[in-house]
Amino acid sequence: MGSKGPRPFAGAGGARGFFLLFFFLLFSLPALAAPPALRGEAEQGGVVFGQAAAGSKVFLDGDAVPVDGAGRFVLGFARDAAPRALLRVVGTSGTATETELTVRPRDWPVQRIDGLPRDKVTPPPALLARIKEDNRAIAATRARVGGRADYRSGFVLPVEGIVSGVFGSQRILNGEAKAPHSGLDIAAAAGTPVHAAADGAVSLVHPDMFYTGQTVMIDHGLGLQTVYAHLGRIDVKPGQRVRRGQTIGAVGATGRATGPHLHWGASWLDRRLDPARLPEILPGAVQSR
Ligand SMILES: [Zn+2]
Repeated sequence: MGSKGPRPFAGAGGARGFFLLFFFLLFSLPALAAPPALRGEAEQGGVVFGQAAAGSKVFLDGDAVPVDGAGRFVLGFARDAAPRALLRVVGTSGTATETELTVRPRDWPVQRIDGLPRDKVTPPPALLARIKEDNRAIAATRARVGGRADYRSGFVLPVEGIVSGVFGSQRILNGEAKAPHSGLDIAAAAGTPVHAAADGAVSLVHPDMFYTGQTVMIDHGLGLQTVYAHLGRIDVKPGQRVRRGQTIGAVGATGRATGPHLHWGASWLDRRLDPARLPEILPGAVQSR
């Protein structure tokens, strides 16, 4: 009698041929790579957290974007970013996907501050070398890109207080138009603890910058950093790893400040971002820990 047992491969020639054809097509045609997953909004001053396939290379308007080995990346958009940006992701097979991002424009408020000491508005020539050195140190810190995506811890506001200045506002100091405000000002009593907004590594500690006084920067990875300015006390050292919510210092009024407050800033590479967006897009689970 002919076998009645299972004949797993009976008639399978056609199916096998189909699968061989399927795999042939899969690997011989340009793969339709999935576009990267994005979290956050492309907007002026905004930040977007991205996830592409592991091993991908990422470009924004033709410039290489830092990516970790798992395909994670961050995009930042400057206050005056153009209305469109082109995101290009190249997979390990060499296949590229392009996504055109519409960058939402924002209206920036005008902020007038009068009564500042004159030498804090127009620095005396003797201080220009010091200011230049401060700027060089900050730029050099921003240029060092950490490879750990520590920002995944999520973000909290670094201090409890009253918002007294927002990102992007055009500042008119003693009637003189100045560079736009680069962060979020939170007024609080001197000595109020200041917390790390997210996990990261302390990338800069400075005891006395002309504008920002006692200053700390934290590297959250892949080009994203935060800065804490006008501190009255600093509790961390350069290179130290910190956790979201960890106390890194205290509110003060050092540098150019009209009163005790934290100037909290964020940047991606050399672009200043609106830090208020960070806890909105990637909220941390607790206020402090
Ligand atoms: Zn400020």
